[in-house]
Amino acid sequence: MKRNNLITKLSISFLAVCLIMTAGCSKQDGQEKGTTEKAKATKVHHWKMVTTWPKNFPGLGTGANTVAEMITKMSGGRIQVKVYGAKELVPAFEVFDAVSSGTAEMGHGSAYYWKGKNEAIQFFSTVPFGLTAQEMNGWLYHGGGLKLWQEVYAQYNLVPAAAGNTGVQMGGWFNREINSLEDLKGLKMRIPGLGGEVFKRAGGTPVNLPGGELYTALQTGALDATEWVGPYNDLAFGFYKVAKYYYYPGWHEPGTTLEAIINKDAFDALPADLQEIVLSACKVANQDMLAEYTARNNAALVTLVNEHKVQLRAFPDDVLKELRKISDEVVAELAAKDETAKRIYSSFKTYREQVDAWHEISEKAFLRARSLK
Ligand code: CA
Repeated sequence: MKRNNLITKLSISFLAVCLIMTAGCSKQDGQEKGTTEKAKATKVHHWKMVTTWPKNFPGLGTGANTVAEMITKMSGGRIQVKVYGAKELVPAFEVFDAVSSGTAEMGHGSAYYWKGKNEAIQFFSTVPFGLTAQEMNGWLYHGGGLKLWQEVYAQYNLVPAAAGNTGVQMGGWFNREINSLEDLKGLKMRIPGLGGEVFKRAGGTPVNLPGGELYTALQTGALDATEWVGPYNDLAFGFYKVAKYYYYPGWHEPGTTLEAIINKDAFDALPADLQEIVLSACKVANQDMLAEYTARNNAALVTLVNEHKVQLRAFPDDVLKELRKISDEVVAELAAKDETAKRIYSSFKTYREQVDAWHEISEKAFLRARSLK
């Protein structure tokens, strides 16, 4: 009996010690967790942003700067983003790999530069005869596009965000008039993405070069023609000194989305509020760049035509119709390449059909109404 009592007493004492220890441990766990959360919330992150643009280049480079400044300001300095122009840290076309591997935490460029990784990626940049800026944003934010983009980029350890849009681009700079498809034959032209593939099938030789190398390539004759963006950007590069004809519209880039890419490990390490700040800053920059181009393009065009005597030309309808036909084939072939491309194309196509129907009686009808005299 006595022995049993002793065992019971010992058991109770042991249990009590265990309970006290457990309580102590969970209190300690809680404190540690709290301390970790606090450290996470107050930690200052120094991020590098590598870009495909020349440093501070109007619209594009400054658009990347806007993303960086917004993140730094909105986070109260908890994330400090330093921007590097092309070649400062890595060459323009190594931005994707640099961010994917963590050499830099962020990048700014456009998805079609990385078609060598996965051709389907080009849908997130622009598609010939595809979506305008407004339509592209509708697809990305409310039509399932961004979700697909995130899914594809997660395979490369990246988080993507739309972070700029050029609006409808110009068709490009030529030293010969384009009166039929024949005139594109044999031309060596800088034209990236799916537009380049269409140009190739039309008989040309597409080349992809970073913006900073285009002027010299045209001047030395390494290129016969080039497209870049629109009057605001093209004036800054001085293409009017080396090419005579400036064609419109940019059938190949009707509303190119610029992207911010974020290293997924760096993004996941952020507390929730900073993650939201990073994505919101991209959204603001996405809208702001389009507003800037919309506001500045025409003044630049007037300078090009009046001061620099650039010959403004429209592609003939027959040429556009042919290019449209080839574009549909190119995009459909891309969609048939694999399951991912098929899913993205299906989402894109469904969205384009419905937005096209809506814009027929809204944007297009209004612009027509406004031009009635
Ligand atoms: Ca372009």
